[in-house]
Amino acid sequence: CGIVGIVGREAVAGQVIDALRRLEYRGYDSAGIATLEGGRLERRRAEGKLTNLQLKLLQNPLSGAIGIGHTRWATHGRPNETNAHPHATARLAVVHNGIIENFRELKAELEAQGCVFETETDTEVVAQLVSRQLDQQMTPQAAVAATLPRLRGAFALAFLFAGEEDFLIGARHGAPLAIGFGDGETYLGSDALALAPFTDEITYLDEGDWAILTRAGAEIRDQAGTIVARPRQKIATQA
Ligand code: GLU
Repeated sequence: CGIVGIVGREAVAGQVIDALRRLEYRGYDSAGIATLEGGRLERRRAEGKLTNLQLKLLQNPLSGAIGIGHTRWATHGRPNETNAHPHATARLAVVHNGIIENFRELKAELEAQGCVFETETDTEVVAQLVSRQLDQQMTPQAAVAATLPRLRGAFALAFLFAGEEDFLIGARHGAPLAIGFGDGETYLGSDALALAPFTDEITYLDEGDWAILTRAGAEIRDQAGTIVARPRQKIATQA
């Protein structure tokens, strides 16, 4: 339902929560965050309100300077902690808005290859598909590029990769996604409103675009993989 990503300079968990709070009005049943801690993926997830997630972060803080967060409105799988995003393997974490319409076929295919699923969500097939490409020594960029054409439905995705402290990947396919440009920090949000505390410099991804976000900015590619320029706008919002 709500997506946030930050390639930051310091611990980003607090900023991710602030951004998610600005998307609360859309409604949600659970929330979660993933960061890199010394290159390793770590997650905190909680059923219910963002305060439950904040409590978990208080008990068990995250200090990573790169991270993704999500507020979930369940479409496939009960609204519990196991089904809360981010979904992850040892290699990557992903948050997802919308629906992967063909997840049953993809899940059956992956299960036939020996893949064991942890959740009831449609989203987990995305984590598993990308992870298998990474198992075959593909780069994260190539793994995402190879996976996106297999997914049907309307969705937006944000990916964080183990060992990759310097970039996030976002993809738009029927659900909005905006990039925000800060001072040595770059942000991703399903709504520019979420990024208002950090920046008013926004670029909206076009339909089918996917982007690699680094601290220096973003490289945007269209569905065919061609690097494209999308306009940067000044969004007047109050932080
Ligand atoms: N279909 C996904 C799920 O049920 C994402 C729902 C959302 O947009 O929050 O987990």
